[in-house]
Amino acid sequence: MMQAEIPPPLRAWREAPRCRALNAHALRADGRYVLCWLQQALRADDNPAIDAAILLGNALGLPVLVYHGLREDYPFASDRFHRFILGASRDLAAGCRARGVACVQHVDRAERRERGLVYRLAEVAAAVVLEDQPAFVAQWQAQRLASKSGAAVIAVNAACLVPPAALDRGVGTTAAFRRRHAAARDAWQDWSDESALSGPYDGPLPFVPDRLETARDTDLDALIASLDIDHALSPSMMLPGSRAEVCIRLRRLTDEVLPDYAEARGDPARPEGASTLSPYLHFGVVGPREVMAAIRESAVPAEQQEKFADELLTWREWFHYKARTLAVPESYARVPDWARAQLERHAADPRPEHESLWALVHGETRDETWNACQKQYLVDGWMHNNLRMYWAKRILAMTPDPRTAWATACYLNDRLSLDGRDPSTYGNLAWAFGDAAPGYRDLPIYGLVQTRTDKAMRKRPGGTEWIRAAAARERPTLAVPGAPPSAPYLDETVPI
Ligand SMILES: Cc1cc2nc3c(=O)[nH]c(=O)nc-3n(C[C@H](O)[C@H](O)[C@H](O)COP(=O)(O)OP(=O)(O)OC[C@H]3O[C@@H](n4cnc5c(N)ncnc54)[C@H](O)[C@@H]3O)c2cc1C
Repeated sequence: MMQAEIPPPLRAWREAPRCRALNAHALRADGRYVLCWLQQALRADDNPAIDAAILLGNALGLPVLVYHGLREDYPFASDRFHRFILGASRDLAAGCRARGVACVQHVDRAERRERGLVYRLAEVAAAVVLEDQPAFVAQWQAQRLASKSGAAVIAVNAACLVPPAALDRGVGTTAAFRRRHAAARDAWQDWSDESALSGPYDGPLPFVPDRLETARDTDLDALIASLDIDHALSPSMMLPGSRAEVCIRLRRLTDEVLPDYAEARGDPARPEGASTLSPYLHFGVVGPREVMAAIRESAVPAEQQEKFADELLTWREWFHYKARTLAVPESYARVPDWARAQLERHAADPRPEHESLWALVHGETRDETWNACQKQYLVDGWMHNNLRMYWAKRILAMTPDPRTAWATACYLNDRLSLDGRDPSTYGNLAWAFGDAAPGYRDLPIYGLVQTRTDKAMRKRPGGTEWIRAAAARERPTLAVPGAPPSAPYLDETVPI
């Protein structure tokens, strides 16, 4: 099918490769505003989706209306996610006001139930600008709006420093991607926020918006307590959702983390060795451009900058790029054929370490190291990179078959981790299930898929003690289904 063209004001934009028309509808000259529907890019500045909406608004002489909504039936909705998201959304509204752009929010709940709100907002919009996200609910919600609404819908990549469309198609390996990305990077480092020529939209709305900008923490807590979501999963004390937390992390990154990044990053007993920026990147409270600008302005040695850039830019953006090429990035089918064949060949092998889903969720298995990993997801909503590798590979031995292992890994990651439901989630899980090169030993359960032991972790000074203490952390008790849901993200019956 021919790709529809983006409207002329965006074609001339230097960031045009970020933009994709999701339908062929023309701009409505009699629209009241340009609607910018944000789902994950919850930041006011350095936000190409808002900039694209402003450019369209300026060309049409219209204001921009930024909308962010949060539903109770968002997959895995819990106090943890709602608190992070609403904290970020509060700052988004304040930031939009500072830019002279109206931002309205809706927290769906019994006494303020709204159905099809985005469609109603789109009915009087000159165009809808939304985020081009390749995974989880955002991608099919965007497609559905584009096919059902009469408004022009334009998707804008706000997640990557280099938009995937600016790179060649068909890049097949991380090494090739690294080369292309490194060559393209410089052209995408700088940006300047667009200025809205019209004042903030203050016309009629089809609903009563929530005024999160002025909400105190206690107001957010009370609102969340009143919702029909999973209250057993508390907000993360380690990762509050706000722009202030991003600023703290950026300062810590340049002053403390990066000078020793190459060494410290691999040691889970030193959580200060990593940036803990991943939840803020997933929910777009910060974008990679701003992170890289902070690093460039610092005195961090080039070697450490490069190591970090390899994680933030090569690996993270590789998984975004790759997800774009897959119809269902969350699916087990993305595990390479050779690895799936190995795992299937061993699917009937005895699994003496099989654990119940309850034991897995709560980090109460017979494997102390695995429990130490899982407690980070359960209690903190984040896990150290080194632990994630062991954690994911071990799930193959702890579940009845490889498909259930995949569903379980996605379920644990996505239900608990604030950075879950991301292209990096499924890309890294695919790596753990066999994206890396085949090993030489044909192992029970794994075949030639490489597994991991906890030997190296335990051998570090204090490693065994750290694992024991981490595995014994106090934890909440959650309601757990009999089996992991296979693809809760694809439930297209959920209205927007
Ligand atoms: C099995 C498994 C599952 C994972 N699931 C997720 C996930 O759900 N969401 C997620 O964002 N990352 C995931 N990762 C990647 C990585 O573990 C986390 O991004 C990292 O631990 C986050 O902590 P940090 O922000 O302190 O990382 P830092 O070391 O400070 O790195 C900075 C940033 O670089 C990016 N990055 C680092 N490592 C990777 C990587 N391997 N792949 C992609 N991007 C990377 C992240 O955006 C991260 O925030 C997973 C890795 C594995 C092995």
